[in-house]
Amino acid sequence: MTDRRTRLFRAAFVALDLSGANRLLVSRARGLGLILTLHHVRPFAGGEFAPNRLLEVEPAFLDLTLARARRLGFEFVTLDEAWRRVRQGASAKPFLHLTYDDGYRDVRDFALPIMRRHGAPGTLYIASGFADGNAGMWWLALEQAIARADSLTVRFADGAEEIRTASVAEKRAAWDRIYWRLRSGPEEAMRAEIDRLATGQGVDLGAFSRDLCMRWDELAELAEDPLVEIGAHTVTHPMLAKHPEDVAWAEMAESRRAIREKLAIDARHFAYPVGNPDAAGPREFALAAELDFETAVTTMPGHLTAAHAANPTALPRVSLNGLFQTRAAVDALLSGAPFFLTDAARRLRNAA
Ligand SMILES: [Zn+2]
Repeated sequence: MTDRRTRLFRAAFVALDLSGANRLLVSRARGLGLILTLHHVRPFAGGEFAPNRLLEVEPAFLDLTLARARRLGFEFVTLDEAWRRVRQGASAKPFLHLTYDDGYRDVRDFALPIMRRHGAPGTLYIASGFADGNAGMWWLALEQAIARADSLTVRFADGAEEIRTASVAEKRAAWDRIYWRLRSGPEEAMRAEIDRLATGQGVDLGAFSRDLCMRWDELAELAEDPLVEIGAHTVTHPMLAKHPEDVAWAEMAESRRAIREKLAIDARHFAYPVGNPDAAGPREFALAAELDFETAVTTMPGHLTAAHAANPTALPRVSLNGLFQTRAAVDALLSGAPFFLTDAARRLRNAA
């Protein structure tokens, strides 16, 4: 997210709060409940160049979120119970379910104690290649390459470009330029180029998943916890929609098979890596249904309503974003007001 967009969102959360819009709109904007998306939960240890900051929240912020949710009348439920209420089309109190993508060890160390304190269940979506310790985390590799370099020669599809990466401002600008241009192209080309850039800076590409993600023995222990559900999240964490159907199928099926083999758990729920429309579309929703996943979640923002019962493999979630760790942001997300207003604006544009 660019600095400008981040500032706009922050201002919007404050405006919704101060104007009372969250409270005014809640009866129309809030659905039956919501599924929150998290990645890392840990004390922030990064510096001024932290482009993946959106993927991590501080433990205190998770605690605040759950405390606010409880105060606003939310009930913390399992994913099966959340899904039951969606199918039923009713929920006496609004519900909330926590989900954590990728299987980071900090979820066990920092989030689980908070979940226990609040009695809040959560689902961990595991990429089996991360648990094996051998799948790449290209977004971290790119961050490290830019952090270490004073300049990088990046080979884009339409030619090479030398980009200055010495100062913090240059690193931030370089990230915005490199990340989005590579990400909008084919995934193999993006991964190959980021691997090349990172290797050139001496980055140990294998270290990320080994250092950050729980291995199978750790997951087996964690899965014993009654608050924890294990879901599938592919093998190598690809943007599925960018790949041929057989590749997408294999990634989805194989991660479930690996979880069954290693943990003796049938992962009945799935999360699409990245999860936006570039990564998960109608073909992926159909594949998840064919593979018999009971639910599959995207990162498309929104609360759950009775209408979602018709689309169990295309469910929206609400991201707890590390760039917006404020009470105003929590209240807005729980009220549903931002999603309601975005939808209303889209309807207006379409009608014009
Ligand atoms: Zn993921």
